Amino acid sequence: MKDLLWDEFQESVQEGLIRDRSILDVLSKYQDSTARVNRSIVKAVTGCGCIRVNAAKPEVPAEISLRELRAYMDDHVEGELCAHCREVVEEEVGRQLFYMAALANILNLNVYDILIKEHKKVSTLGIYNIC
Ligand SMILES: [Zn+2]
Repeated sequence: MKDLLWDEFQESVQEGLIRDRSILDVLSKYQDSTARVNRSIVKAVTGCGCIRVNAAKPEVPAEISLRELRAYMDDHVEGELCAHCREVVEEEVGRQLFYMAALANILNLNVYDILIKEHKKVSTLGIYNIC
C-alpha cells in the first residue's frame, strides 16, 4: 500500500508553488535551501553554542572489519540542539523538502517511489552501503 502522505505533500507543493515554477528557479531555490540548512547548523554552533563540533582524524586500527569500523567513527557533534535551534533547523529542512518535491514535480518523479527505492537499497546493502 502506498503511503498517501508523501503524495499529498507533493500535490500540496504543486499547488503552493505559484511563482518560480521554472526548473531554473526551483534548482536555484533548492540549492539555496541546502545552504540555509547548513547555515542554520553553523549558527547553532557559532551563534548559540548549544552544539559544538569537535573533529579529529579517526584513529582506526589497521586490521579491522567493516562492521567494527562503526565503533571508531564519530559524528563530531557534542551537545544537543536547543529548542530554538531545533525549530530553525527543522524549518530549513522543511523548506529543503518543499523544493525537492517541487523539483520532483517538474520532472514527473514520485518522491515516495524514490524513498522506497532508497530504503530497499539501504536495507539490502546494510553496512556495505557506502556513500
Ligand atoms: Zn541553540
